[in-house]
Amino acid sequence: MNDQPKRAFQVDLSGQAAIVTGASRGIGRAVALALAAAGAKVACVARSVDKLAETVEAIRASGGTAEAFACDVTHAESVQQVVDAVVEKWDKLQILVNNAGITRDTLIPRMSDDDWDSVINTNLRGSFLFMRAVTRPMMQGRYGRIINIASVSALTGNAGQANYAASKAGVIGMTRVVAKELASRKVTVNAVAPGFIKTEMTDALGPVVLDEVKKRIPVKRVGEAEEIAAGVLFLASEAASYITGQVLVIDGGLCA
Ligand code: NAP
Repeated sequence: MNDQPKRAFQVDLSGQAAIVTGASRGIGRAVALALAAAGAKVACVARSVDKLAETVEAIRASGGTAEAFACDVTHAESVQQVVDAVVEKWDKLQILVNNAGITRDTLIPRMSDDDWDSVINTNLRGSFLFMRAVTRPMMQGRYGRIINIASVSALTGNAGQANYAASKAGVIGMTRVVAKELASRKVTVNAVAPGFIKTEMTDALGPVVLDEVKKRIPVKRVGEAEEIAAGVLFLASEAASYITGQVLVIDGGLCA
């Protein structure tokens, strides 16, 4: 497979440092590759060390700069350590992509406390912890781009996803608030809401469900991780300097 991300436009992020959570596979991996291809130094965060090493190796093989940071985004201390290490290593920190996320789908009568807590902790608390930790270096640098990966599930609601939709709606609310708090420091905060994108998360749905899903998507296919990465790359760029507190929906027309 060719790991070079498809890019329809040129963005120059050279000299900038980025953190991408959930970079070991799927959307996060595509985002890390896209930011690195645009010249950013990328700190790749996830729990699985081996898969993270593959992402970092792919970036380096393409001539980019990346480091792996094994970290559970629900642990406040580990999150702070990652941010401190990145600032120590690369001096500044300009970009955060909060992408790490999980699903534990089941209908509400069967949803366990653990189903609820694990999804809220990873998707919402993890995004909060990283946003809080990067605020100081971004404010000091008087520049920043925070991009939180939400979901169309937060906008439309999918049966079986009370925990997931709540976590992603929380991410969108938090995005709007922090956008207002940091705007005067030239830090923009936006969300990207993907529809159905081909990754291990959606592979778990199985081919029958996915075929049904495709029928409901106006473009009649699921999206590619690189198509989400393209939206993130735009929001991370200088070109998006007047966009903050927004939700960019990338879903093949599903919510249109
Ligand atoms: P994925 O293939 O399952 O990848 C999830 C990533 O998150 C992995 O790198 C995983 O790495 C990491 N992760 C999970 N829990 C973590 C934790 N506690 N600490 C650190 N890293 C953690 O998922 P994906 O489909 O690429 O989804 C990425 C994001 O897009 C998620 O926020 C998801 O909700 C959102 N999204 C996806 C779709 C879709 O159709 N795929 C649609 C809408 C929104 P480790 O397991 O190694 O930690």
